[in-house]
Amino acid sequence: MSYLIASSLEEALTSLRDGSGKARAVAGATDLYLQEMPYGLVDLSFLKETTVIEEKEGLMSLGAAVTHALAASSPLVLSRARALAEGCAAIGSPQIRNIGTIGGNVINAAPAADAAVALVGLGAKAELVDINRETRTEAVENLYWTHNRSLVDSSKEIMVRFLIKPCLAGEGSAFTRFAARRALALPMVNAAARVKLEKGFVKEVRLVAAPARPAPTRLLKTEELVIGRPVNGETISMVEKAVAEEIEVRGSLLRCSARYRQHLVGVLVASALKTAATRAGTSGKAGD
Ligand SMILES: Cc1cc2nc3c(=O)[nH]c(=O)nc-3n(C[C@H](O)[C@H](O)[C@H](O)COP(=O)(O)OP(=O)(O)OC[C@H]3O[C@@H](n4cnc5c(N)ncnc54)[C@H](O)[C@@H]3O)c2cc1C
Repeated sequence: MSYLIASSLEEALTSLRDGSGKARAVAGATDLYLQEMPYGLVDLSFLKETTVIEEKEGLMSLGAAVTHALAASSPLVLSRARALAEGCAAIGSPQIRNIGTIGGNVINAAPAADAAVALVGLGAKAELVDINRETRTEAVENLYWTHNRSLVDSSKEIMVRFLIKPCLAGEGSAFTRFAARRALALPMVNAAARVKLEKGFVKEVRLVAAPARPAPTRLLKTEELVIGRPVNGETISMVEKAVAEEIEVRGSLLRCSARYRQHLVGVLVASALKTAATRAGTSGKAGD
């Protein structure tokens, strides 16, 4: 088995190409280590491109190998994309957060992966480059194939970064989850919301919940109902009901029954929306 700590993106891509499908990109290995190990590993943990968090030309850029701990404590993420900081802070334990990465969380494609749900809620896009040096940019929700399988072939392609429109004045985001314990427990349900308010009324909104389908699920019908309304008690009650009607969550022998999840999902999406709206600067009006 070979192991390369790549010192440049170019070296990483060349190494994957030379591996002819037998080598694979790796970051924290918190997921990969539990699976069948490939012949070669190309470690992306120390590349500038995959580890930087910055704001450039009106967009936030987060390297795919940014760890959950770094994203959760970054002042930029906390102020401009709070849902992601909250999603990352909820993952596993300090040990897992210190090495697990946001890119790995998406590519591993667990249906209710916490960072992935937050990224979809924020409307993040991922930038990828393949061994032929061709790049593509995809909405995170379009990177899923089926349960626990993404459309990223890590033997031929590197996820370099995520691009997120920062939440500016009048905008807010939030992530919420419910689990059996506060640490080292996968969520029964998780949810994220992003909202833009104008004069106290919803102008734009994204509502996302999981686990229901292979990818975190956008609640498009509920979003439509919310547009043009103030985020008050009436709207929050309406969202709880509308979400439970729009999405069908499945039961899990390990975590909880479908019935309990179906109740939880409406409550959590409504709660994320209420918090996001409060952050958007409507305290006193939102969630009264
Ligand atoms: C004890 C424990 C608790 C956990 N708790 C949670 C939890 O509460 N919530 C949660 O969401 N997750 C949890 N996880 C899952 C895990 O930590 C995350 O999914 C993590 O974010 C994966 O990132 P990684 O860097 O370790 O990925 P890796 O294991 O390195 O890689 C995962 C996959 O992505 C590929 N890959 C990684 N980076 C790239 C890249 N930049 N480009 C191309 N391919 C890439 C790899 O080839 C592999 O297929 C837990 C895991 C453990 C072991």
